[in-house]
Amino acid sequence: MTSVVERLRRDHPVFSVEFMPPRDDEDERRLWHAIRSLEGLDPAFVSVTYGAGGSSRDRTIRTTGRVARETTLVPMAHLCAVDHSIAELRNVIGWYAALGIRNILALRGDPPGDPMGDWVRHPEGLNYAEELVRLVRSLGDFCVGVAAFPYGHPRSTDLETDTDHLVGKLRAGADFAIAQLFFQPEDFLRLRDRLAARGCDSPLLPGIMPLTTPRVLHKSVELSGSPVPPAIASRLDPLADDAPAFRAEGMDIVTELCHRLLAEGVPALHFYTFNRSKATMEVVDRLGLVASRTGPPLRN
Ligand code: FAD
Repeated sequence: MTSVVERLRRDHPVFSVEFMPPRDDEDERRLWHAIRSLEGLDPAFVSVTYGAGGSSRDRTIRTTGRVARETTLVPMAHLCAVDHSIAELRNVIGWYAALGIRNILALRGDPPGDPMGDWVRHPEGLNYAEELVRLVRSLGDFCVGVAAFPYGHPRSTDLETDTDHLVGKLRAGADFAIAQLFFQPEDFLRLRDRLAARGCDSPLLPGIMPLTTPRVLHKSVELSGSPVPPAIASRLDPLADDAPAFRAEGMDIVTELCHRLLAEGVPALHFYTFNRSKATMEVVDRLGLVASRTGPPLRN
């Protein structure tokens, strides 16, 4: 099984996609349509997020395993330390290994219920993602990724300390990092500069979400932790009640963002897909990242 860093080294620049474990049969059907559609575009890797509850976690493991078994894609499994003992984490890592999964995104996760609630460590668990990186590394030949936050993690006191903690995760054995959503290229590039200033040149992938609806824009604000910058708000706010015009402008904004990031030499663009393929395929197509498209027709 190819590792994520091998793919990033081999096919520069590329894109990758992130899915969520399906909630029900309909969601599963949509997810697999998206996976099959994107498979023809040969993304660098596909990742599946790790939920809060036991059943959602089982679905993540099942879905990632199915990607490994039934597709030509390189899978990356997310794994969160929250609410797990070390023994349970060892088990999950063992299941991933048994399924042939070599790539793991090591995360702390948020407290279930209220993501901004107080962090409570499992009595026999871990406190920080850095410890999970060490654990995964100690258990086999895994390629490990970690999360990065262009505006700083919401619990961090300041950007510099937050960057020090990111460097700590990379020095603990992580191979690359994926950035949370952000709105303007400079927000991401400043994070990359902070890493470079600390002598850290590990691959850092920007997280991208096509701005297709006002709801997605709202979600971007929530996930990034930043308000919409005036330069983007002035383009999108007037179109809030005109769905096609909003989508067209939002796609232009994201395409412009991606063009600039590629010009700045990012190793890959990581797309948050919400288990749909159409908008991601459109952006990838506009950027000319794939020469030809195969697979089922575009559908949301
Ligand atoms: P950590 O790196 O442990 O950081 C948590 C906080 O502790 C930060 O404020 C950090 O600055 C601080 N810190 C870190 N190390 C230290 C240290 N050694 N000493 C003191 N303070 C420290 N969540 C999910 O539930 N499931 C997912 O699948 C998922 N996927 C994600 C994918 C990406 C690309 C990103 C960017 C986020 C994802 N998240 C996911 C969200 C993530 O789990 C939360 O944002 C979580 O609050 C932080 O996780 P982390 O791994 O960055 O934690």
